[in-house]
Amino acid sequence: MLHSINPATEEILGEVETASKKSVNDAVKKAKSSFSGWASIDLSERALALTKFVSELRKTKKELSVLMTQEMGKPITEAEEEIDGACTEIEWFAKEGKKYLENEIVEIDVPQVKSYIAYEPLGVAGIITPWNFPLETPIWSIAPALLSGNTVVWKPSELVPLFSKEISNLLDTLLPVGVFNLIQGADSTGKSLVDSKVNMLSFTGSSETGKKIASRSGKKLKKIVMELGGSDPCIILKDADIEKTVDGTILGRFLNCGQCCTSAKRFYVEEEIAEEFTSRFVEKTKAMKIGNPLERDTKIGPMASKEQLELLERQVNESVKMGAKVLCGGVRQGSKGYYYLPTVMSDTNQKMPVISEETFGPVAPIVPVKNVKIAVKKANDTHYGLGASIWTKDKEKAEKISKQLRCGIVWINDVNVAYPQCPWGGIKESGIGRELSKYGILEFVNIKSVIVK
Ligand code: NAD
Repeated sequence: MLHSINPATEEILGEVETASKKSVNDAVKKAKSSFSGWASIDLSERALALTKFVSELRKTKKELSVLMTQEMGKPITEAEEEIDGACTEIEWFAKEGKKYLENEIVEIDVPQVKSYIAYEPLGVAGIITPWNFPLETPIWSIAPALLSGNTVVWKPSELVPLFSKEISNLLDTLLPVGVFNLIQGADSTGKSLVDSKVNMLSFTGSSETGKKIASRSGKKLKKIVMELGGSDPCIILKDADIEKTVDGTILGRFLNCGQCCTSAKRFYVEEEIAEEFTSRFVEKTKAMKIGNPLERDTKIGPMASKEQLELLERQVNESVKMGAKVLCGGVRQGSKGYYYLPTVMSDTNQKMPVISEETFGPVAPIVPVKNVKIAVKKANDTHYGLGASIWTKDKEKAEKISKQLRCGIVWINDVNVAYPQCPWGGIKESGIGRELSKYGILEFVNIKSVIVK
């Protein structure tokens, strides 16, 4: 059995059954037998099923957002925003996806030969997802997989089993039997799915797990898409509007209690403004309300699990032992729940865990730098390559800097925001392939060349 724990109270919210290896294989078999029916119906019918899913999400938004907050601790206003965001994204797939899946004529210079590309589903997509965005992250894979005609077996995170069950129930009522299948459990259930006869895998989670899955699935050369961890740099130039930048980067670091793959995780600030920026950042960090995530004015809820809290605590404490200073926070809050005060640090360096590792929690190390060249060098000095942000009034200069950053997404004067039209993903140990946009749809198809003479 899998227990769902409320991270704000440590109470057990409920339990679900863990899928055995046999149940995983049965789910894959069911998905396989439903594949040809689902793949052969008109794409507009599959798009319609997604549109109906959006209506169901909107109808149940209130209950779903409360459950999301209770199960993983994100403030209720953020849970509501996540459901709104997911609806917009699914609608985009349903409305715009068609044009990327239609046959595409290829002009070739040989008389009497015609050629086109057909975009065909791969079969059963195995989808494994984390807990930090319990709806948005899964639907970035589930929606394009279903739209393009694949059937799905989904293994959500073991931290959000009740929420995932609700989502699966909604989809079940809208889709033919066997098209969408939920299996619940932790790593062993995930391993069974990786070893099963799925035709492809879409994985979102940590780089460490990603490497394990890649080597396991590599034995059968299974196609994989991977959205992994990040340690996104945030580069602040001396001409930046300090107030706007502080507000933007506080949100960028502390949204979802700092538990976003693309949270701003390392701050490199040109030294001319570093002191003023840091003091405003600390002031505003201290003013954020930490507490019950169901209260509408709460900005920081608990971290999602005891393990995440202990990992963050280790990263901060080790960095302090190595010489870093805590300007605010740096400790747990209260005796119940997995609360950690939003934390700002100075005197850090590239070797300290708060810089060299992914910090998945509310910790902001601020590093003054002499110039942009040094900031870029430090920003790229990581095995991650997910996102980065640049803050300045000089947008042209920032676009030039963006070319030097070795990562998959660059925001200028913004951070952590997704648009369904824009590709999402990383390079280096942050991932393989892309989500969202036409590229995120094409991950789920066989790009077939047809040549006719
Ligand atoms: P995680 O890697 O611990 O777990 C992710 C999923 O993989 C869970 O469902 C888990 O049960 C499963 N799993 C664990 N071990 C497995 C194994 N050996 N085989 C198969 N499945 C296995 O990650 P997490 O703690 O749930 O999520 C946080 C991580 O996810 C962070 O690193 C974050 O940056 C990353 N993330 C990335 C993106 C992105 O778009 N790049 C988005 C969200 C989260």
